[in-house]
Amino acid sequence: MEKPEKLIVDGKRLDGRAPDELRPLKIEAGVLKRADGSAYVELGANKVLAAVYGPREMHPRHEQQPDIAVLRCRYAMAPFSVEERKRPGPDRRSVEISKVTREAIEPVLFLELYPRSVIDVFIEVLQADAGTRTAGINAAAVALADAGVPMRDLVSAVAVGKVDGTIVLDLTKEEDQWGTTDMPVAIVPRKKMITLLQMDGHFTGAEFKQALDLAFNACERIYEAQRQALRERYAIKQGG
Ligand code: ADP
Repeated sequence: MEKPEKLIVDGKRLDGRAPDELRPLKIEAGVLKRADGSAYVELGANKVLAAVYGPREMHPRHEQQPDIAVLRCRYAMAPFSVEERKRPGPDRRSVEISKVTREAIEPVLFLELYPRSVIDVFIEVLQADAGTRTAGINAAAVALADAGVPMRDLVSAVAVGKVDGTIVLDLTKEEDQWGTTDMPVAIVPRKKMITLLQMDGHFTGAEFKQALDLAFNACERIYEAQRQALRERYAIKQGG
């Protein structure tokens, strides 16, 4: 696709959304039989699966930590997940995303409960349209809860940015590509603690505050959808 002249026309984005509107979000918990916990997330055209194994004994053993469990995250994109076939296997980007995903999730886990163990989180991107790292974090948090791993809270994540001079929520591929700023954020909702904040581009101080407010608000909605997915999985009636 060539760069459109404008990414926002009459206050609407190319896909018809308002600047502060999230793409359609769908979350399902417990979608894989063999994983201890799993989740599937769709956010607009993004389709992401997360699978959790463990806590289980860490192999290789020399990577065991005597006092805590190790959280191991692997983010991977399927070759068919993007327009041009992606070469399979890890690359710089997926290694970086795996690392920031681990750092975004680690603070909610009680790793001290499982010395010498490992908790594996596999994130597989089946279809990508910008925002896959945040979709992956949302899926991973639900998959960990589905696995019954003790957690202080979930982690909710979304990207915000700047497109045609406007602060926007949840950028599409086109907006990410041709916008000026992309800022993925992950939050531990109850503590309002930020566990991931990256920025590609720049904001003024006021824009940063506006973008962060937008991310916090959207994470509240994502958090509710995550909890709803877990309620549906275990058929717990609301208010019951
Ligand atoms: P995120 O998916 O978290 O937004 P990036 O900002 O790095 O991460 O990527 C934005 C989007 O660019 C991805 O969601 C995907 O649609 C696209 N993309 C990333 N890597 C590739 C790749 N190797 N080939 C084609 N498209 C890619």
